[in-house]
Amino acid sequence: MAIVRVGVLGGTFDPPHLGHLRLAEAARDQLRLDRVIFMPAGDPYRKAARAVTPAAVRLALVRAAAADLPWAEVSDIEVERAGPTYTDETLSVLARDGGEWWFIIGADVLADLPHWRDPQRLVAVARLAVAVRPPAPRLVPREAARAVPGIEDRIDWLDMQPVDVSSTELRRRIAMGESTGSWLPPRVRALIEELGLYRA
Ligand code: ATP
Repeated sequence: MAIVRVGVLGGTFDPPHLGHLRLAEAARDQLRLDRVIFMPAGDPYRKAARAVTPAAVRLALVRAAAADLPWAEVSDIEVERAGPTYTDETLSVLARDGGEWWFIIGADVLADLPHWRDPQRLVAVARLAVAVRPPAPRLVPREAARAVPGIEDRIDWLDMQPVDVSSTELRRRIAMGESTGSWLPPRVRALIEELGLYRA
């Protein structure tokens, strides 16, 4: 039996948007993944400077975003854990049952990796799928190379046409009553409206 290939896309997803979906699709297509697991962070300690929407609400938004994607799953593993969660720990737990695992990230996250707890352990458990917008170079930032020796051999680069959107920009737009265009999956947009999220 073929070994199952799984990608994990972690994030705050406050809210999930088209950039996240395109990133997951790029990983799925280019790495021939059997499934992609969207994994909202429970207590995003790297973003502790701002008020983050409660994890249960973000989980519901991510479920709405993934609802129409047959190859997508949503994991509540980090949401259900008390206190800060760490990607190396979570991936170790997920990968325990076997298979080949990728942790999917944008190139911006690669630069942040040295600040994570035990990035060495993370790349030992999962390969990294790193999206770059062509023709940007496929370069490992010096600090990441220093923090995780041999990281180059654990990276699969994804070509991804840029989707110029962030959750921050979408929160700002909703607060200002501006249009969010087609950047929000319809089910996510509907839930945001229903719950009255991000309004000033
Ligand atoms: P925020 O604006 O609140 O910081 P965000 O839009 O960057 O949020 P996150 O939930 O922090 O979203 O991101 C989760 C993952 O998705 C990260 O690996 C990030 O690099 C990636 N990502 C976010 N936005 C995009 C985008 N527009 N295109 C490709 N990847 C993206």
